[in-house]
Amino acid sequence: MDGAPDASSARVAELEAYHRDHVLGCVRCPLSEGRTQVVAGSGSPEARIMFVGEAPGYHEDRTGVPFVGQAGKLLDGLLEGIGLRRDDVFVANVLKCRPPGNRDPQPAEIRACEEHLFRQVGIIRPALICTLGNFATKLLSGRPDGISKVHGCELPLEIGGQPTLLYPLFHPAAALYTRAMLATLEEDFARIPALVARAGEVAGAAPTPVVPEPAAMPAAPPPAARDADPAEQLGLF
Ligand code: SF4
Repeated sequence: MDGAPDASSARVAELEAYHRDHVLGCVRCPLSEGRTQVVAGSGSPEARIMFVGEAPGYHEDRTGVPFVGQAGKLLDGLLEGIGLRRDDVFVANVLKCRPPGNRDPQPAEIRACEEHLFRQVGIIRPALICTLGNFATKLLSGRPDGISKVHGCELPLEIGGQPTLLYPLFHPAAALYTRAMLATLEEDFARIPALVARAGEVAGAAPTPVVPEPAAMPAAPPPAARDADPAEQLGLF
């Protein structure tokens, strides 16, 4: 033993320092005014799998932990189904502060907050990034394709100079409102262990550089349409 810090403890310290110095007191956008606290992310900084959702909700804002409500319980069940626990992965959101009334993230908020997510990816260096829903998928893929079209389709990418494999999934909250979607989620989750096993090989094959840019967000649907389906209100499709 030479007393030098190993790479894993250095990664833990780097993520903690980034959260402490840049995220937990962030006032880059107006969402800082209404939050109870910043929800930076949780799990293992050494995880090979990272999940990225949309934004904190009521319970997350209160506890400071992502995915602790009903959608979080469903996420835990889906992880358990493939032999994983929350501590085995890292979970974060596109936005680190709760939008009022759980409304959709706004393009300016995503632009203000995206550096935090890209820095998290750069520090954790996950082999597989599972995006949950439209907002995370469009931001990290850099493409306009919606989650209904691309869920379950892995995409080799380079994010922050790091080869990785993007794997879009429906947001777990979608399965709370559309039970038929639970089977689709379970099918897509079932591929995760095999994808992680070959993620390095696939990610190194033909990475597509992703330059963090403002997300091309779809126009918000009219209020009548948003009232028609609670899952639509969450931007899950
Ligand atoms: S949502 Fe992101 S950019 Fe806005 S205040 Fe919170 S941490 Fe900062």
